[in-house]
Amino acid sequence: MSLIVQKYGGSSLADAESIKRVAKRIVETRKAGNEVVVVVSAMGDTTDELLELANQVTPIATGRELDMLLTAGERISMALLAMSIKSMGQEARSYTGSQAGLSTDAKHGSARIVDVAPIRVRAALDAGAIAIVAGFQGFNRGTGDITTLGRGGSDTTAVALAAALNADVCEIYTDVDGIFTADPRVVPAARKIDRITSEEMLELAAAGAKVLYIRAVEYARRHGVTLHVRSSFNNNEGTLVVNPKEGEAVEEPIIAGVAADLNEAKITVVGVPDVPGKAAQIFTIVASTDANIDMIVQNVSTAATGLADISFTLPKADGAKVLKALEDNKGTAGFASLQYDDQIGKLALVGAGMRTNAGVSAKLFTALFEAGINIEMISTSEIRISVVTRADTINEAVRVVHKAFDLDADELAQVHGGTGR
Ligand code: ASP
Ligand code: MG
Repeated sequence: MSLIVQKYGGSSLADAESIKRVAKRIVETRKAGNEVVVVVSAMGDTTDELLELANQVTPIATGRELDMLLTAGERISMALLAMSIKSMGQEARSYTGSQAGLSTDAKHGSARIVDVAPIRVRAALDAGAIAIVAGFQGFNRGTGDITTLGRGGSDTTAVALAAALNADVCEIYTDVDGIFTADPRVVPAARKIDRITSEEMLELAAAGAKVLYIRAVEYARRHGVTLHVRSSFNNNEGTLVVNPKEGEAVEEPIIAGVAADLNEAKITVVGVPDVPGKAAQIFTIVASTDANIDMIVQNVSTAATGLADISFTLPKADGAKVLKALEDNKGTAGFASLQYDDQIGKLALVGAGMRTNAGVSAKLFTALFEAGINIEMISTSEIRISVVTRADTINEAVRVVHKAFDLDADELAQVHGGTGR
């Protein structure tokens, strides 16, 4: 008998009909002789609607009460799904995150899981029932309060339960057929990936691929959980996200996929004195704002001026606070001025096979050159090359790079729902 954890995203649970359809699928999995634990997201856009409602009541709601509100979304899904399963003659029991034993730290809105003790879930399975768990939530032992794991946190709930219950697989059900070599809405010829390593998946998720959340992938990697990302709208095999053991020989394609991110901006610190300690000083100021910076580029200072420019990228949402922090410290840091540019796009090419393959960057840059696209910044890791271009050229950039690396499929990808979640 296998133990399967299935997670259904909001787009798979949009209305009563969808809930019945998903219930049927779960009952079939149980009838095939598996133990089944189901993790649910809130129905459709419920979480956004609850946030909007809170905003209408007060724009400054945060912390405890906001988490209380948002966790209601997943509780609606879990109860309706359990009812639907029971109506089909199969035993099912729903549990909130705290009932399922997910304890977290006390950071409301972005809590981290510290311990998973799914005693009641295990007992439900032992009694022959299907266990349904509300995703995205837990509780803190110290405060006794309900917490949420951050947007998209249900994926993490599913992976954490799969790890704690030693599940055979964690299936993530969504409205697309799996992980694609690029966003099918941008590249109609994108191909579904059958198998990808968690290392590659982490790079793609960090670079803007939206199907899986980065924290869930990290957790799965750390605990050796195999993920199967697939559509709840058909029975096709999706994408397996695997964790090959150290030294295990795997035939890795050179390129796994291309991702793009339009949520970043670029700050240029102009006229930084070219003396030791300036970068340390500037990035200490940036770090004090808690912003997550990504690419950093420093130009060559000419001997004549003795000044350098330093550019870095960061989420647009952090732009204002970082600019202010730098501006406030302009005198001590000694730079001349700041430039802010939020019209950038970032493209990342990811593949574990890149490690052993020369010429990948040359091919990438050539493809962009031939399309007349200018590269403004470049950064690399072992298995990724990222470039910054103008925002309005990013989709074209993704298409030409996808084609240059022979990733285009003959058949066009099918997108079912529309949000990609
Ligand atoms: N409902 C939450 C959200 O929309 C959690 C999730 O869907 O995973 O972010
Ligand atoms: Mg959701």
